[in-house]
Amino acid sequence: MNVPFVDLRSQYRELRPAIDAAVLSVLESGSFVLGKALTSFEEHFAAHVGVRHCVGTSSGTDALELAIRACDLRPGDEVITTPNTFIATAAAATAAGATVRFVESDSRTYTMDPAKLEQAIGPRSRIVLPVHLYGQPCDIASITAVARKHGLLVIEDCAQAHGAEFEGRKVGTFGVLSCYSFYPGKNLGAYGDGGAICTDDDDLAERVRLLRNHGSRQKYRHEVVGYCRRLDDVQAAVLDSKLPHLDRWNAQRRRVAAVYDALLAPVPDLVVPFVRPNAAHVFHLYVVQIPNRDEVKAGMAADGIETGIHYPIPLHEQPAYKHLQHEPSDFPIAHEQAGRLLSLPMFPEITDDQIAYVVESLTRRLLGRKC
Ligand SMILES: *Cc1c(COP(=O)(O)O)cnc(C)c1O
Repeated sequence: MNVPFVDLRSQYRELRPAIDAAVLSVLESGSFVLGKALTSFEEHFAAHVGVRHCVGTSSGTDALELAIRACDLRPGDEVITTPNTFIATAAAATAAGATVRFVESDSRTYTMDPAKLEQAIGPRSRIVLPVHLYGQPCDIASITAVARKHGLLVIEDCAQAHGAEFEGRKVGTFGVLSCYSFYPGKNLGAYGDGGAICTDDDDLAERVRLLRNHGSRQKYRHEVVGYCRRLDDVQAAVLDSKLPHLDRWNAQRRRVAAVYDALLAPVPDLVVPFVRPNAAHVFHLYVVQIPNRDEVKAGMAADGIETGIHYPIPLHEQPAYKHLQHEPSDFPIAHEQAGRLLSLPMFPEITDDQIAYVVESLTRRLLGRKC
């Protein structure tokens, strides 16, 4: 048996008539940039998140960069984020001209530890950029409280958490701005790159709208020096066709996680994902911790099972951030965990047989028995 890490084709097959029709109608309309399909998706996605504004962007990374730029930082101002995330979270801050500062992860959820946030805040800190990692909300209420106390803005990185909830409220509604990615493998994925910024703030919405489109509201009049970072209409049409299914897919992901949990919880030396009792996790990834990770991963690959590592090198140890002069031990939890994390195949359509096969291979390889 072969088990892929994700399976993007089965979702397309399921929705083929609707997606094909939506794409063709954009092709027929001749309106490919800032057209009706984009407006329609933006309205629907804003409603799904529960905010007034959604601004489609060319990627999640661009969403983050524009969101940070909209906050008007000065050189030397800091964005505080987490070392255990995809590089784009920090790289967007760097691209926006900010200095990056890291805060240690919480050992159970792998997300930013609000207790350690306070001591990371310095005189130049302006923005806190926590990540709802693997589909699990970070402790956004505590993070927002600390940020407010120190006069910092919160921007949420929701790239892995479309539809996740914290205390009954959707992620993406806590910060002044929130950023989404529609990279194909995300819980809501386009057929190419895409992203969005959500906000309830009319002024910030207008600013990011300007920034994504050459600083322009009116053709050939440019209010500010902007960028070319729009979500195109073909991608918006694909996303609009898929959005009505997002909640169901997230529920399927939660079911898959529950099956994994039941089978893996009794396995010694293996830590299953901790789920906050006050959160709705959407399991973009199902990540376990094991001691002999690299061996097990190679063994599972030999059994035909694709797994992932999110992420093998924490950001404070990345060559790209060597100028920050961190030691691996500066963030010992993030450093330790990077060597132990393993992401198992996770997608709504995975079958119980596939899950059982993954679990059998994983436990056999973990206990080091020969097959
Ligand atoms: C995917 C991702 C991004 C970047 O999104 P792109 O659309 O690939 O640019 C940013 N942050 C996190 C946490 C991500 O997982």
